[in-house]
Amino acid sequence: MKRQLVLAVLGVMIGSSALADPAPGHIDWNYDGDHGPKHWAELAPDFGECARGKAQSPINISHATPRADLPDLDVHYHTAPLRILNNGHTVQVNAPDDDTLSVGDHRYHLAQFHFHTPSEEHLDGKTYAMELHMVHRDDEGHLAVLGVMIRNGKRNPALDHVLSHLPKDADGDHDVDDVVDPASLLPKDLSYFYYEGSLTTPPCAEHVAWYVLEHPIQASKQQIASFKKLYSHNARPIQPLNARTVYAHRAHAPAHP
Ligand SMILES: [Zn+2]
Repeated sequence: MKRQLVLAVLGVMIGSSALADPAPGHIDWNYDGDHGPKHWAELAPDFGECARGKAQSPINISHATPRADLPDLDVHYHTAPLRILNNGHTVQVNAPDDDTLSVGDHRYHLAQFHFHTPSEEHLDGKTYAMELHMVHRDDEGHLAVLGVMIRNGKRNPALDHVLSHLPKDADGDHDVDDVVDPASLLPKDLSYFYYEGSLTTPPCAEHVAWYVLEHPIQASKQQIASFKKLYSHNARPIQPLNARTVYAHRAHAPAHP
C-alpha cells in the first residue's frame, strides 16, 4: 500500500519533469509557430491583453509630436559586478538597486536590461540589428522602459562585458567575474520618443512608459552574431498605434560627455 503510494508519487514527478515545463505556472511561449506572438493570448488566461490590448508595444515610431516641455532623462547608473542569466527568451543582466532613471519628479529604479534581435520598435519604418531594453520600476510598481537601438557598425567595447559572457543555457543567474556599467551602453545624446505602451512579452501588460532613444549605439557584426547564436529572432511584431500619440523630446545637454 505504502509502496504503491510512493510509486504513484514518483510517477507524477517523472511525468511532470518529462514535460518541458520546469516551473509551476511556467507557460511555454516563443516567437514563431503555435506558441508565437499570434497565439500568445490563447496560451494562458493572463495573456489576454496580448490580443485585446489597445496600447501595445512595440510600434513603428513616426510622425512624433515635438514636446520641448517634457523633462530630460536623468540617468544615474553605476559600474557593478555582472549578474547575467539566459531566461529562455533573451539574455538579461540584473541590476543592483541603486541605478535610477528620473523623468522630472518621477524616479524609477533599474531592475534589469536585456536584448532583442532585430529591434522591436521601428523608427520611421526602419528596424535595427538589435535593441537594448532597460527595464525600470518605481516604488508603486509602474514600469518605464528605456529602449536603445543597436546598429551594425563598429565593435562596442562596453557591450563586450555582456556579450562575452552570454550563458548558453537557461539555468538561472550567473555571477560572472566581470563588471558592467549600464551608462556605458547609452548614446551621449538622450533625445527620446515617448509613448504609453506595454510589455513586449506575455502577459503584454499595459501602462508601461516607453522612452525610445532617437540615437542608436553600435555593435560589430561579430558582436551581433554572438547574441544571434543564442537567439536568432526574439522580437514581437509591431502593434497598431490606435488612439495614441508619440512625442519627441530633444535633450538639452549630453547626459555624459
Ligand atoms: Zn524587451
